[in-house]
Amino acid sequence: MPKIIIIGGGIAGLAAAVHLKAGAKAHGKTVEVLVLEKNTRTGGKILTERVNDLLLEGGPDSFLPEKVWTVNLARHLGLDKELLPSNDEFKGTFIYSQNELHPLPEGVMLMVPTMFMPLAKSKLITWPGKLRMGMELFVPRRKTREDESLASFVTRRLGRECLEKIAEPLVAGIHTSNPDNMSVLSTFPRFVDMELKSRSLVLGMIAAMKNRPLATLSGPPPKPGAPRMTYFMSFKNGMDTLSRACTEFIGPHSLRLNAAVKALEPKSSGYLVHLNDGARLEADHVMIAAPAYDAAEMIKGFDSNLAGQLNRIEWSSSATVSILFRREDVTVPLRGFGFIVPRVEGRRINAATYSSIKWSHRSPDDSVMIRVFVGGGHHEELVHDLDDPAMIKMVLEELDVVLGLKAEAKFAKVYRWFRGMPKYTVGHLDRMTVLDRTLASYPDIHLIGCSYKGIGIGDCVHQAQVASERILQG
Ligand SMILES: Cc1cc2nc3c(=O)[nH]c(=O)nc-3n(C[C@H](O)[C@H](O)[C@H](O)COP(=O)(O)OP(=O)(O)OC[C@H]3O[C@@H](n4cnc5c(N)ncnc54)[C@H](O)[C@@H]3O)c2cc1C
Repeated sequence: MPKIIIIGGGIAGLAAAVHLKAGAKAHGKTVEVLVLEKNTRTGGKILTERVNDLLLEGGPDSFLPEKVWTVNLARHLGLDKELLPSNDEFKGTFIYSQNELHPLPEGVMLMVPTMFMPLAKSKLITWPGKLRMGMELFVPRRKTREDESLASFVTRRLGRECLEKIAEPLVAGIHTSNPDNMSVLSTFPRFVDMELKSRSLVLGMIAAMKNRPLATLSGPPPKPGAPRMTYFMSFKNGMDTLSRACTEFIGPHSLRLNAAVKALEPKSSGYLVHLNDGARLEADHVMIAAPAYDAAEMIKGFDSNLAGQLNRIEWSSSATVSILFRREDVTVPLRGFGFIVPRVEGRRINAATYSSIKWSHRSPDDSVMIRVFVGGGHHEELVHDLDDPAMIKMVLEELDVVLGLKAEAKFAKVYRWFRGMPKYTVGHLDRMTVLDRTLASYPDIHLIGCSYKGIGIGDCVHQAQVASERILQG
């Protein structure tokens, strides 16, 4: 019976364990699976906390159901009825520009305009900027699928103003990255393909919307009574519903907490896994679901070249600050789900989500909870430099500037993510190809998780399933 050790109990490691256990049954095989997690809890960056009657998300607050793997995993774990759609009656994104909040013009998909009138009427973009965006229809296509920075791609196709006011805060913001060195090919390959296929992103996006399949989800069908799907989905009791359900599914015998892995040692067949506490465990396969820089530490003893490749992946640090106000104290309008702040505005926060408006079950009805993002693509030093009281004070000052909100915070909590998000910089895909080639010499080591082929929860679950399937079919 092959023994598989999974290092890291974040969503990638947990999804792999679920898939291995469930998949082995389906393949009529037996496998021994053990997840080693250095912390006292599973979930990794999925961190939901309950404080009195508040539900706080320190890390991700949602997932994209378009990436079907998360929904399929949730359904497999019997979580259909736990899924939570966003309150789309309040939907909308606002962009802070020149002392005002402007709605993202209707029809702008990520950064590509698909409707003329809303863009024409918008006060967010100047007339020269709008004309430049319209000129996209006539910009010739590039002939090759070469990588370039998001900044270069957007400026070339849609102009500088679209980059600074829409693409940077919206598109680079998702990756907490700087558009000047963020790889468009590894983060939004769809745009590159659209240019190659349709020449114009505007035409390509309109065609894609027309041809969008009605049912985007594959896998097990929804149970009767399961909620409708919105663009972003969460869970009624928070994102850790998913990680807790995975943990329960794999069972206590397949999980060891407080188990930090120090190093791997290749044997004639399989590996010895050395733990910080001196324990040594044998494995036929090792799946490393810890960040690439932790994987590098485990590997450097027997392959410094591979460790070097892992260490070339750069990371950004960010913080989320959840702040609670009394509803009656919030006398300014909170429109949409929140706002984003372009880097050119020089503010100290990147974005804010009105958590208790976007989602139900987050705070009592007589309150409003706002979650603010700091660091990442801009002013990353604040994540290191400000202690919690200073960070909260700064966030309140910024909410006053952006919204005119002068209310007193009834509660606030800061979550910091040092080296929390990998930056997929230009050339990332090429580096992944080199990494895959190096890994071909180690068929029993499998690297999964946000460091490599997608940062979203759906991407992590997908990588976990692909790697598990490879083991099961091997
Ligand atoms: C603030 C923030 C907001 C986000 N929002 C969203 C969102 O809304 N939607 C979305 O889809 N994605 C979001 N993401 C991204 C997403 O949450 C992460 O990419 C994903 O959860 C990463 O999962 P993972 O399993 O790859 O890594 P992790 O969650 O980092 O898990 C890795 C695990 O490995 C363990 N580990 C590390 N070293 C060792 C060792 N030596 N021995 C044993 N264990 C070890 C760690 O303790 C950790 O538990 C967000 C990320 C952040 C930081």
